[in-house]
Amino acid sequence: MTAERTRVAIVGAGPAGLLLSHMLAEAGIDSIIVDSRDRESIESTIRAGILEQGTVELLEKIPHSRVHEIGDRHDGIELHFDDEAHRIDFKTLIDRSVWLYPQHEVLKDLIAARLEAGQDLRFGARVTAVEGAETDTPRVLGTDADGNDFEIVADFVVGADGSHSAVRPTVTGSRSSGHFREYPFAWFGVLAEAPMSAEELIYSNSPDGFALISQRSPSVQRMYFQCDPLTDPESLSESEIWDILQRRTPGHDLEEGHIFQRDVLRFRSFVASELRHGRVALVGDAAHTVPPTGAKGMNLAIADVVLLNEALRRLLTENDASGIDNYSEAARKRIWKSQHFSWWMTSMLHLQPEASEFDRLRQLGELRSVVDSEAGQKYLAEAYTGWPLRTDV
Ligand SMILES: Cc1cc2nc3c(=O)[nH]c(=O)nc-3n(C[C@H](O)[C@H](O)[C@H](O)COP(=O)(O)OP(=O)(O)OC[C@H]3O[C@@H](n4cnc5c(N)ncnc54)[C@H](O)[C@@H]3O)c2cc1C
Repeated sequence: MTAERTRVAIVGAGPAGLLLSHMLAEAGIDSIIVDSRDRESIESTIRAGILEQGTVELLEKIPHSRVHEIGDRHDGIELHFDDEAHRIDFKTLIDRSVWLYPQHEVLKDLIAARLEAGQDLRFGARVTAVEGAETDTPRVLGTDADGNDFEIVADFVVGADGSHSAVRPTVTGSRSSGHFREYPFAWFGVLAEAPMSAEELIYSNSPDGFALISQRSPSVQRMYFQCDPLTDPESLSESEIWDILQRRTPGHDLEEGHIFQRDVLRFRSFVASELRHGRVALVGDAAHTVPPTGAKGMNLAIADVVLLNEALRRLLTENDASGIDNYSEAARKRIWKSQHFSWWMTSMLHLQPEASEFDRLRQLGELRSVVDSEAGQKYLAEAYTGWPLRTDV
């Protein structure tokens, strides 16, 4: 086996890894990206849907990006509780918006742009170890799509390999080292062939539990409802699923249709104890996980990349290590704000299994404090549409 050489070895072709390689290339820095999955699987996995304004402003600059062609701008969301609907109007409150543009479409754009630029992007290549973090030549070891071992020697290695990161132990000492919280509920998610029931997302706190009505396209809708984390996705019939969704969104007569995909998504919060060790760093879900209620996961991954790109550009083109030395601390500020927002939206909107009447009435009081106050609505709008992206690493 001959070791190959690049400047930055990126593990993971998710939004974080692909965007980082694009930004590094703009600064003249070569990279190799390896991903254990094949291209088709990466481009078809349904995950995030909501992009913050800053994320869109970055992605729209990617050659051939279709974010404005396929994506839909949303200027607000509906908060539904106590049989009342309240619109949080982002545009009027803070003149910002979000875009509904599914993550797999973002990935198609990024992969096409990287391949067109001649990017060394390897599918089906699984990384098993990262060595030499404390040297100037860290190495990535793994097995390629043909079952052959490979080794890539780089000036820097980035773990953009998601929540089960193989790179994380090199940075933190173990896969689980960090701050962790598990929630006593999950989301039952469905994709349905149905017309849109609403133009914007509906976040509904009902006495039976939470429901989220989201969109994908004029003919396919994405919806979720709170369930027990151990629920078997096949345990409910289509009509039982529609009954739950209808009951939890009173006042909305949801358009029903065939449910062709269903999954149960468990809720976790996690922040790795370290984001960098020597010449190895973590970005995106490899560094943190948030519950999906605030739609922050992919956006936070992009925010990490903006910081890490600046730190790597200074390290690799100006031999200035100050940015990379400060990367963990700088990134953590937004990570913990996003953790808080995701936790807050989750706790405010979901029914806790052991909730007393006091807990339930207090929760409704909390929601009313938000919608009755312009300051409360503005905080939600600022956090949801995304704080400005920072490069001051
Ligand atoms: C159902 C659902 C809904 C969501 N909704 C939203 C939303 O509305 N808004 C939002 O912002 N976020 C949302 N998220 C979160 C968002 O999808 C993630 O935060 C985002 O994918 C993180 O990007 P990433 O690049 O860090 O990691 P990933 O997208 O997980 O990419 C990691 C890549 O690394 C590869 N990989 C893993 N291990 C290895 C290895 N050993 N060797 C080589 N390659 C490897 C994987 O194959 C993968 O392609 C949602 C997530 C889910 C599951």
